[in-house]
Amino acid sequence: MQVPLLDLKAQYATIKDEMAPALQSVMDSQYFINGPEVKELEKAVAEYSDCAAAVGVASGTDALLASLMTLGVGAGDEVITTPYTFFATAGSIWRTGAKPVFVDIEPDTFNIDPAKIEAAVTEKTRAIMPVHLFGQVAEMDPIMEIAAKHNLYVIEDAAQSIGSTYRGRKAGAIGTVGCFSFFPSKNLGGLGDGGMIVTQDAELADRLMQCRNHGSKPKYYHKWVGGNFRLDTLQAAGLIVKLRHLDDWSAARRANAAKYDELFADFEPVTTPVIRDYNVTIYNQYVIRVPKRDELRAFLKEQGVGCEVYYPLSLHEQECFAELGYKRGDFPESEQAAAETLALPVYPELTDEQIQFVAGKVREFLA
Ligand SMILES: *Cc1c(COP(=O)(O)O)cnc(C)c1O
Repeated sequence: MQVPLLDLKAQYATIKDEMAPALQSVMDSQYFINGPEVKELEKAVAEYSDCAAAVGVASGTDALLASLMTLGVGAGDEVITTPYTFFATAGSIWRTGAKPVFVDIEPDTFNIDPAKIEAAVTEKTRAIMPVHLFGQVAEMDPIMEIAAKHNLYVIEDAAQSIGSTYRGRKAGAIGTVGCFSFFPSKNLGGLGDGGMIVTQDAELADRLMQCRNHGSKPKYYHKWVGGNFRLDTLQAAGLIVKLRHLDDWSAARRANAAKYDELFADFEPVTTPVIRDYNVTIYNQYVIRVPKRDELRAFLKEQGVGCEVYYPLSLHEQECFAELGYKRGDFPESEQAAAETLALPVYPELTDEQIQFVAGKVREFLA
């Protein structure tokens, strides 16, 4: 049996008939930039996320970068974030000229530890950028409290968590802005790169729209410098189709995760994901903690099971950030997670047989 980590063809087969006319209609209009589908998707995502406004951008990375630029974060500023995340989180902070300041994670949820944030706040801190890793929303109430106390922006890196909730509130709807990615492997994946920023602040949304278009308003007049961060109309058209299915897909992922949880329940070597009882996650990844992670990974690949390590090296140890002055040992929880975690296939179209096969292979190796 072969079980890939993700099977986008299986998903495409279920929506092929809806997708074709949506894309054809953009082709017929030849309206590739800022076409009506972009507005339509923005409206749909704003509604879906319980936000006042949404701004389509070219990627999740651009969502983070444009948010920072629009909020005026730059040289001399500091932004607090987690070292255990995809590179774009800290990369986008760095690109504005600001300094990423890392704070270690909670070992069970892998999200930034709110109890450790306040010690990292300085006079230069302008924002906190929590990441809702693997789908689960970070501990937003204490984060928002600290932000209010020190007058900081909160930029939610919600690239992995569209549709997840924290105490009943949607991912992206709690901070100053929320940033989504439509990279094809994300739960709401486009036909290439895409992203979106959501916010409750309509005036901020207006400035974000200027930012994605070189800071121009009106056309060809620039009070400040933005970039070309626009979302293609074709992407928007495809995403409108997929958004209609997102809740069903997320429910299927949760059901698959529950099956793994049960299959590993009596098996001590595997630590299954910890989801707080007030959180609902979309399981962008199903990540277990195991001993002999690298050996298990090689074994699973040999046995036809797709799996991946998110992420093998914490950001504070990345070569490009050497001048930040961090060293091994600074963030022990993040470092340990990087050594022990492994993502298993959890995509919605998985069959029971495939889930049993994957869990069986993990148990076979670790028994
Ligand atoms: C995917 C991802 C991003 C970047 O999104 P892109 O659309 O690939 O640019 C940022 N942060 C996190 C946590 C991600 O998983």
